[in-house]
Amino acid sequence: MVFGFIIGRRHCGYSKADQEGDEELYFQFKFPGTKTYIDPETYEDPNRAVHQFAKELDASCIKIERVIGAGEFGEVCSGRLKLPGKRDVSVAIKTLKVGYTEKQRRDFLCEASIMGQFDHPNVVHLEGVVTRGKPVMIVIEYMENGSLDAFLRKHDGQFTVIQLVGMLRGIAAGMRYLSDMGYVHRDLAARNILVNCNLVCKVSDFGLSRVIDDDPEAVYTTTGGKIPVRWTAMEAIQYRKFTSASDVWSYGIVMWEVMSYGERPYWDMSNQDVIKAIEEGYRLPAPMDCPPGLHQLMLDCWQKDRADRPKFDQIVGILDKMIRNPNTLKTPMGTCTRPISPLLDQNTPDFTSFRLVSEWLEAIKMERYVDNFTAAGYSSLESVARMTIE
Ligand code: AMP
Repeated sequence: MVFGFIIGRRHCGYSKADQEGDEELYFQFKFPGTKTYIDPETYEDPNRAVHQFAKELDASCIKIERVIGAGEFGEVCSGRLKLPGKRDVSVAIKTLKVGYTEKQRRDFLCEASIMGQFDHPNVVHLEGVVTRGKPVMIVIEYMENGSLDAFLRKHDGQFTVIQLVGMLRGIAAGMRYLSDMGYVHRDLAARNILVNCNLVCKVSDFGLSRVIDDDPEAVYTTTGGKIPVRWTAMEAIQYRKFTSASDVWSYGIVMWEVMSYGERPYWDMSNQDVIKAIEEGYRLPAPMDCPPGLHQLMLDCWQKDRADRPKFDQIVGILDKMIRNPNTLKTPMGTCTRPISPLLDQNTPDFTSFRLVSEWLEAIKMERYVDNFTAAGYSSLESVARMTIE
């Protein structure tokens, strides 16, 4: 226990710890009760893995309603799941197309074997699988607003900075959980985050490394294997060193995507130019209206030396602090170029229709921060409005 504690403490340093060595030691000496991710490929029989981690559902409990997307192995549908003695819930149903090979079936169910090991409010939840009937199905909680990149593009400029930071906080919390379990995502990007009707963001798209091959953003690199270059840390591109620290780099890119409402990182630069620019020390500039503190956090995530990047736990802490002190999220005078002021979303809902700060926070689903606003002296809507003008 004492040894584990010492190792755990070393792991917490923002900068100097050697992340690679620490990670290996850290996961050998975990605190009792911390779950560790198990690679389903270590199971000789993949069917055993899936039933170890996922509940087998009776197909009669599932009602498919409509097709909502195209997955790599078949259609993605929305529908309802009614388990005996429980309320029916909205679900997304991934189906395996007919005529699949044994390998396709194994790869398809692999995602369920991974997802089924996780239990966190910011990680997409697996309801179960249907493997004993046809079609083979993976049943997941339904995320009403779909993928984060498309969602942000659709609502360009419509959220407050605090709402955006709330989304980023959720993603960081999901990633903290995954990295604590020893799971390295390798393809963290806004397109792989799902958003529900309450604006809660959840990490999704799990698979073994080869699943990245199916990401349209992934391209072949000189080191072999396909990599989503714009989202990937230099050491992972150069020598396939994927760790939680390379996930932190990708998280920095997700921060940039969120603050720029789904803009493409590095715009129309070619992948080769992106690699060259990053090697020469170029980093993405702050998106329009992005508070400087958030851009600094992005730059920290893009430190060349992976040991100098923050850990997810620290990222969550920094974002929490920003949310608690809305003053730190002000954009300095002269840098605000968006026509809509960032804290006062003019589209939904109408700011002027509220009497109290608490009503407004409730309408934008941020009521949990009412005490922070009061403590910071923002007790009236006038003072909140002034916050963006001054
Ligand atoms: P995927 O195969 O996971 O990339 O899913 C393909 C598309 O289906 C995604 O881009 C989403 O638009 C949609 N989708 C996947 N999972 C869900 C879910 N749990 N809730 C709602 N939409 C989903």
